[in-house]
Amino acid sequence: MSAPTILNPAEFEARLAKYLYERSEEGRAVRVGEKETSEQAAIVERYADLFTRPQLEALRAAENSAGGDEREKLYRLRKTCEGGIVSAELVERYDAFENKLLAERVTFRGEEMPLRAAQAQMALLSEYADREELGELQSAANAAHNDERRELLTLGEQFEADLTGELDPIARSEEEKEVSLHQLSAALYEASKLNTPVWEKLRAKWFDRLLGDHPAIPSSYHTAYMRRLSPLEATYSKDRATDVCLDTLRDLGFELATMSNIKLDLDDRPQKSPRACVIASDPPNVVHLITRAQGGLHDYQAFLHEAGHALHYGGCDPNLPFAFRRVSRDHALTEIYSYIVEAITREPGWHARYFGLSDAEAIENAEATTFLEALLFRRYEAKLRYELGFWTRFPTDGGTSGGYEEFLTEATGVRYRSENFLSDMDGGFYTADYLRAWVRSAQLRHHLIAEVGEDWWCNKKTGDILRALFLEGTKPSSEEIAGRLGFHALDLAPLLHELGTVS
Ligand SMILES: [Zn+2]
Repeated sequence: MSAPTILNPAEFEARLAKYLYERSEEGRAVRVGEKETSEQAAIVERYADLFTRPQLEALRAAENSAGGDEREKLYRLRKTCEGGIVSAELVERYDAFENKLLAERVTFRGEEMPLRAAQAQMALLSEYADREELGELQSAANAAHNDERRELLTLGEQFEADLTGELDPIARSEEEKEVSLHQLSAALYEASKLNTPVWEKLRAKWFDRLLGDHPAIPSSYHTAYMRRLSPLEATYSKDRATDVCLDTLRDLGFELATMSNIKLDLDDRPQKSPRACVIASDPPNVVHLITRAQGGLHDYQAFLHEAGHALHYGGCDPNLPFAFRRVSRDHALTEIYSYIVEAITREPGWHARYFGLSDAEAIENAEATTFLEALLFRRYEAKLRYELGFWTRFPTDGGTSGGYEEFLTEATGVRYRSENFLSDMDGGFYTADYLRAWVRSAQLRHHLIAEVGEDWWCNKKTGDILRALFLEGTKPSSEEIAGRLGFHALDLAPLLHELGTVS
């Protein structure tokens, strides 16, 4: 066997682009239900030369002798190489696990269905008792895989600690994100508590409106149903979702339907994940926007959220290096753009314009979206506190559910069952990225109102401001954007204001 070739940084970057393209396309095919089995392992094997320790060391050496943007670019390439080494080690196990979940079935009222279909179904059942029953079945079938989840998590964690030399997973994440997660969490917890009085009122009103007869603390199996604003389904109908969303984007100056680089997949397939997503296989040229409409407001919110991502990736400067078009330290930047586009659905004017509502009805329905936003924000704030506790204890207890049910239930008034403590955890503290985006998009909206006006949500000037931000690709950090908007990174006043609390 010949000695492994070590690529120079430019060669590495070019080959990495091909590798990520293939992995993205494979992930897309499984996610949308075109393929029944995931074959990521075969791709990783074909590109095994990218992910070796000598290659990692070569990138590190280049990074250490570079400065400025070049250093940042090399940092990202090195971290991607590092991640690739970890995934090469574990990809067969991940594939096997993913395939096991795809094959898992639950039987509800004599009908056998895949786990994902059960999840999708739960949002649609109109009776509380039915959702509860299916939720229990789905949750139990999902939790049956917890031992394997924990095993995979432990293997990944051990391998990463060994590779990076940083034993503390929280410190590792903080280094990459360049923020203090504890500080972020503490500030958000304070904000959540300040929001509690307003939240309690919204919760009491909208739980009643959306769930009808319900226990004082409903279970989390009903959140997808609530997010659709299901009792208002006739207003937010499934068949109008695409047109209304395309028109909404056109108001900002984006002609999504004619942008050939953004590929829309809006079809319904049984194995298609009900969660909408964007897969940026090769930005700005190949960006997939995937949604699965089910009826209800959530279709509109999910479409606009993903459109924000798609326009961001699809709008980046093609002359930027790949590392600044596709690779990022985290997801906190791109989530600002998805959040700001989704925020249009919280404007009473949008409800009035597109759904033929009176001003009073529009205000009422917009309040429902504030309720949903507060519910999600409070859930994620609690999730971050739980995850920080989980990873702090991890070296000694190997990962336990402590805090999951307590924190989330207390923050939301919705019962989150402790058995979901592993499946409800995204890797790499993605929770913190969402939360930073929550803070930042509220700051951005404040900025847009000042620059464009109260009609920011239907004004082409907003499109111009966003387009300029999108051009920068994945290069800036979320905190850099705060600085440009004239805000301190942890200034939570705009967010609290959006959630109905004036601080
Ligand atoms: Zn997103």
